Formats: sequence, C-alpha cells, structure tokens
Amino acid sequence: MQCSSCGRSAVIHVGWKGKNYCEHHFKRYFLGQVSKVLYKYDVGGKVMVALSGGKDSSTCLEALTHFDEVELHPLYIDLGIGEYSEESLDTSESLCDALGLDLEVIDLEDEYGAAVPEISERESGKVCGICGMIKRYLMNRHAYENGYDYVATGHNLSDEVSSNFNNLANVYLTPFRGLKPVLEEKEEYRLVARAKPLYFLKDKECKVYAETNDLIHYGAECPLSRGSPTNELKEWLHKLSDAKPKVLRNFAKSFMRIEERMDTNHDDMGRCENCGYATATKVCRFCRVLDMAGGG
Ligand code: AMP
Ligand code: ZN
Ligand code: ZN
Repeated sequence: MQCSSCGRSAVIHVGWKGKNYCEHHFKRYFLGQVSKVLYKYDVGGKVMVALSGGKDSSTCLEALTHFDEVELHPLYIDLGIGEYSEESLDTSESLCDALGLDLEVIDLEDEYGAAVPEISERESGKVCGICGMIKRYLMNRHAYENGYDYVATGHNLSDEVSSNFNNLANVYLTPFRGLKPVLEEKEEYRLVARAKPLYFLKDKECKVYAETNDLIHYGAECPLSRGSPTNELKEWLHKLSDAKPKVLRNFAKSFMRIEERMDTNHDDMGRCENCGYATATKVCRFCRVLDMAGGG
C-alpha cells in the first residue's frame, strides 16, 4: 500500500477520504481534523486535558501540543480501581514527562472518602454510569476551581456515534443536548466549556496515531466495564463503515444538526444545594452518591 500523496509506504487507509497515508501525511491529515474542531469553535486558552492513560486521551494530549492557541493542563482522576488505576496513573505520568507537562492528580478516595469499587457496591445503578458521572463531575469542578477555559476529553468519532446509538436504543434522550464537538460554558451553573478534539477521528485512526508517534499508553480495559453494550454497537458500526466509509461522519453530523434544531434552553437545570455545581435535582448525584458512601 502506497501513500496517495507521496508514494512512500502507507500506514493507513482512510476510507471516507479514499486515500492511503504514510506516517508523515497521516499526521498532517490527523492534526488537520483536530484543527477543524479547534478553529471552527475558536477553542483556545487554558485547556484541561482529562487523561485516562488510554490511547485516545494520550493522543488527544499529544495532538494538542501542536497548537499554540492552547495552554495544556493534564488531569488524571484516580478512581481507586486497583492495579488498573495504578497502571493508568503511571502511564499518564510517563506521557506527561515525555511531553514536558505537569500532571495534576485527583485521588477520589483521599479527597472524597471512597473509591469506585466501594461506591458501586453500595449503589444500585450500573457501575460505568456512576463512574462516568463521578469523572464528569470532578473534571468540571477541577477546571472551574482552577479557572481553566475548557475541559478536553479523548472521545473519538467511534465513541460518540456508538454512545448516541446506545442512548437511542434505551430511549435516553437527555444527552441529545451534548452532541457537538464543543459545548459552551454556562457560568451560571458553574459548567466549564467542553471540547472533544478527536470528534472527527475514528478509533482506528487514533490507534495508528498513538502507535506511529510512539505515544505511551495503557491498553487494558477497565476490569469493571467488561461487556459494555456500546462495544457491540461500535463493532457493528465499524462493520457498516467498512462498506460505507462516510457513514460514521454522517451520523455524527446528523446528531450535531439535530441538536442545533432542538430547543436547548436549560429550564430543568439548577445548582446543587450542597456543592453549588449544575444539577437537575436539589442535591446533585455526585453529592448523593459520595454521601451514601461515607465521603465528603
Ligand atoms: P471513558 O469514560 O472511559 O470512555 O473516557 C472518556 C474520556 O474521559 C477519556 O477520553 C478521557 O479524556 C477521560 N477520562 C477517562 N478516565 C479518566 C480518568 N481516570 N482521569 C481523567 N480523565 C479520564
Ligand atoms: Zn506520504
Ligand atoms: Zn453537589
């Protein structure tokens, strides 16, 4: 397989473009897709990158180092999931060292009195749902308290489309307000703006980027999340996109347009009586879950 731009040996075929790319031209294509998100939504200033140690958020952080508009502040949340959390933290630290950035760390158990395995035993909901809520809450709160302009996550095109399909499959339409690559801040609810720089890049493209740029990342899946329904949906969508290369991008664009046409006022939004951050209930779920678990 030869690069469609220069004829050198190609590392990837990008279906929707109908092109093969060598390492050099793939990097150019990849950063071009990231810049589309940054420039279209005018993302700049202090950007907190939420690092999980996995390939996507590592890729997201490295990709952003190529843009002068952003000042990077990587954050790792230690959820206390045994060896998995320890390895993820080590990996995130090594990556930040290699990139010359300081990693900020929140230890859930130290700071709020309970780790995810303990919380999930006490709570009735699915562990990934609770863990996701805790991560989103802490990312936003850390960014707000430190005066950061954006929270950036490693969500890629495959994640976004499959999780939206999963929401449709469960008639769960609340998240249809969060489908765009960049969500504006809402100071009145202490919500920091959010950015997904890898929004237009597929799983495989992020994997090849991490590999060809020798980005340190931890490949293990969370031991608590095995058999997640979105993984099956993702496989199904990838099969579909083998035959129809533009289908993932088109789904993502349709989801964005649906959101643009929706009435997105936040009548149901308020602030938590306990912590002051955004919630649709009197006391937010983070405070309820952590109180029950004996935390702050
Ligand atoms: P996930 O919820 O595991 O699909 O992860 C989605 C995104 O959340 C990742 O791409 C990261 O940007 C961020 N993230 C996941 N886990 C952590 C963590 N332990 N600490 C900080 N950010 C995280
Ligand atoms: Zn080339
Ligand atoms: Zn609260």
